[in-house]
Amino acid sequence: MIITLSESATSSDIEAICKALSAGSYSASEVRTQFGRYLVAIGSSEIDIRSIGSLPGIKDVHRVSDSYKLVSKKWKVSPSTVKLGNGIEIAGGGFTIIAGPCSIESEEQVRSIAAHLKETGVSIMRGGAFKPRTSPYTFRGLGLEGLKMFHAIARDSGMKVISEVVATADIEAMYDYVDIYQVGTRNTQNFNLLHELGRIDKPVMIKRGMSGTLDELLQSAEYVFSNGNEALLLCERGIRTFEKAYRNTLDLNSVPVLKEKSHLPVIVDPSHGIGIRRFVEPMSLAAVMAGADGVIYEVHPAPEDALSDADQTLNFEESSVLVNRARQCAALRDGF
Ligand code: PEP
Ligand code: MN
Repeated sequence: MIITLSESATSSDIEAICKALSAGSYSASEVRTQFGRYLVAIGSSEIDIRSIGSLPGIKDVHRVSDSYKLVSKKWKVSPSTVKLGNGIEIAGGGFTIIAGPCSIESEEQVRSIAAHLKETGVSIMRGGAFKPRTSPYTFRGLGLEGLKMFHAIARDSGMKVISEVVATADIEAMYDYVDIYQVGTRNTQNFNLLHELGRIDKPVMIKRGMSGTLDELLQSAEYVFSNGNEALLLCERGIRTFEKAYRNTLDLNSVPVLKEKSHLPVIVDPSHGIGIRRFVEPMSLAAVMAGADGVIYEVHPAPEDALSDADQTLNFEESSVLVNRARQCAALRDGF
């Protein structure tokens, strides 16, 4: 059960609500986010929600039978929008393109990508500064100095920044240089990291674990929300299956299913999802038609020279084609 508290709820109101809930064998946790105050009540007995709803300090009460609560559509029916400032936002039901290099490599590389994205009208740039690499002998990113440079160039072009955070200790240092924190597939269930991101008032995009179920992804989002941060995005980036013909299996089934289960916007990452450059564009279009609220892909001035994920990275020409066609698909979808 989720109880939305009214702005005027006092601590004695909350105490009285918790008392009534525990009389019905429910235990309640208070959640305070940047946008609201809630009580999440867990219990299995039958309780007459009308008797709770009439107590002072309550705006509304909803029963949510899912194991995740605050991210469930059973509670919040209308799609959520993540606002990034300057009119840039990622709206559930809308379509947003995010693009940029897998790794931030140099000032020259970032400047040319920023100019390309500006020309194509993309207003959110991705780029990894802290790279989780399978082999410790490969390029692991330029770290905070690289992120600062990336952020300055993005701002010069009026763009917002999304970058991956791999360690709790980096959250604070990254704060001024990101507009969205990305949680990578290897950290989807790093609950300490998720917990700390809940204490931040900046948006977080959580990628699906490479062997994670949708319920697990939603529970990860619940970790962040229940710790105080409700500006969240879900990202389908492909899962590991028995198929070896491509890097991952981009599970586009997840798009309509996640959108039915949750009010959070769903972004698709076709670059990691298939891992093969020439198929990134068609899979982006498929993602749009499946109902994705956005796509995130990798682009580089010379993909073959990229220091990470070269095989799945688009050049500028391919990137422009993707953006054009994805927008056409989104317009077509809007007309359905
Ligand atoms: C990335 O976005 O470059 C990345 C490492 O993604 P994932 O966590 O999906 O592998
Ligand atoms: Mn990558």
